Parts: sequence; C-alpha cells; structure tokens
Amino acid sequence: MTLHIKTPLVASRPLSVIAGCSVWLKLEALQPSGSFKLRGIGHACETYLAQGARRFISSSGGNAGLAVAYAGRLLKVPVTVVIPETTTARAKELLCLENAEVVVHGASWQEANDFAQSLLGAEDAFIHPFDDPLLWHGHASLIDEVASCGLKPNAIVLSVGGGGLLSGVVEGLHRNGWNNVPAIAVETAGAESFHEAVTAGHPVELARISSIATSLGAKRVCEKAVWWSKEHPIRSVVVSDQSALSASERFLADHRLLVEPACGASLALAYEKSPELEGLDTILIVVCGGATATLDQIRAWARQ
Ligand SMILES: *Cc1c(COP(=O)(O)O)cnc(C)c1O
Repeated sequence: MTLHIKTPLVASRPLSVIAGCSVWLKLEALQPSGSFKLRGIGHACETYLAQGARRFISSSGGNAGLAVAYAGRLLKVPVTVVIPETTTARAKELLCLENAEVVVHGASWQEANDFAQSLLGAEDAFIHPFDDPLLWHGHASLIDEVASCGLKPNAIVLSVGGGGLLSGVVEGLHRNGWNNVPAIAVETAGAESFHEAVTAGHPVELARISSIATSLGAKRVCEKAVWWSKEHPIRSVVVSDQSALSASERFLADHRLLVEPACGASLALAYEKSPELEGLDTILIVVCGGATATLDQIRAWARQ
C-alpha cells in the first residue's frame, strides 16, 4: 500500500476538440490530499519514518503542507506546519482538518521557514516541498501508471513551481525508456523561475512572485530541474494569470473538477490551442490539482 492512489487516466473530449489532438488527462486532483504532491511526499514520509523520524515538519501552507499532514495522520506521526500570517483561512482550515499542529509565524514564507528549521530536533524530519530525491522518486510513479496503461503520448504537459514535479516526471520517463518524450513545462508570468533558470543555464532567484498562482511561486527552482533541462527535451512556456484562471473555470464546467490556477496554467495550453502543441497527435496533461483555491477566489482573481 502506498499513501497516494493510482489515479484515473481519461481522454478529454472537450479538450481534444479544442486543441485539435488527442488530449489525455492524468487526474492527480483526485489524490486524497488534493494534488500530486502526495506521491513524492508520501514516499518521503514513509522513508523518514522507517529511518526513525518521530515528527514531520513542513513550512508550506499549500499543497505540500497538506500532503505532509495527510501522510502524518495515516502514518500516526505528528506533523507541525509553520506558516506565515499571510496564509489563507482556507489553507489553515484544511491543515487543521488533517490534525496537523499549525504554527503561524512571521510575515513571509522566509520567516516561517526559518522558524520551522529552528524547531528541528534529532527525531524530526523536515519535508521539503520540491527539492528532495525521495520526492522525485515518488512523483515518478505517475509516469509508471501511464506506461502500464499502454498509452505513450507525444509530449507531457505539466506545471512547474520549484521543479519537483518536473524532476519526478522526467525521472519516470527515463525509467520507462521514454527518453525521447518531451516535457512541456508551464509557468505563469510572475512565477517564471524555471524559464529564467533555463535561459541562464542555472537556477536564478526571482526578486518577487507576482502571479496569483501561489503553488507555482518558488522564487528559485531546484538544481535538478535545470540539470534535467540539459539531459532531456524540455520546452519552457509561460502563460498569463488570466489564461490560467480561465482554464480553471472552463475545466470545472467540462470535467466537474475544481483545480487551482497553478494547474489551470497547464490546461490553458490546450484551451488556447497553443502553438507549442502543433504537430503533436497525442498529449498527456498532468492535472496536478491543488486544494487551496475556492471557486469564489478564482472568480474574484479573474475579475481583477
Ligand atoms: C506544488 C504544485 C505545483 C508545482 O510543483 P513543483 O514540484 O513545485 O514544481 C503545481 N501545481 C500544484 C497544484 C502544486 O501543488
């Protein structure tokens, strides 16, 4: 048994018609914690528990924190999540629902993270949201499942925040012998830290995050994601917040699933028939999900 579930792989009729190619969806939004993060974080938590960890600490008020809280509850390991004052009431509520101890500290994520680090004792494991080989290894299971269904797409479309999902997906492509299947890495403008890193050839720190897609808001991507960009065909694409929000709303109407704009960013490529998809017969979109945005919030952002 793993903590994550094997998610459905479905063909999307509406998206295929709009994009003009076969669009398949890997529905990570259906993971019990609401996003793909449970794959890697579940694997990391199980590994750290086996190595003797007696508490998990996270500094994410987003889907990473939720995945740690979920994993801890199932593994019967206490979880402490340190979050900044700016974290939404919705995120706090979801963390409390998973029985995590929530500590509100500092005005920014940096301060919350520094405090979380200061709490770390000998029996605690810090669970990073994207930069840990255990995470990538767990995320890679997503591609194993696609391969075992007998579907080999011409490209994989996925969203990039800190690059953990990308690193895991490409690891999965390689361990299934799909070295020639390109990844299309999507970010929103204002959170394009992977785009900047690929341009520079090394991780670059963004001065600030100005996108509403907070789950993509890592100021700097992990080294591994940039390393993969030199070892594997990866195309970097940046879409607007408006495109991501509109894709989230349309996806709710078409597939009855509410996903964060962080996930809408990837869906926008199909909804807007992006030139990046030209010449591709079959694509797979990783519907990474996300539990922290309500429909009211998505509509309010879209009106801004
Ligand atoms: C974390 C997250 C991402 C980005 O994943 P990284 O591993 O940080 O690149 C994208 N979408 C959702 C919904 C997320 O929770």
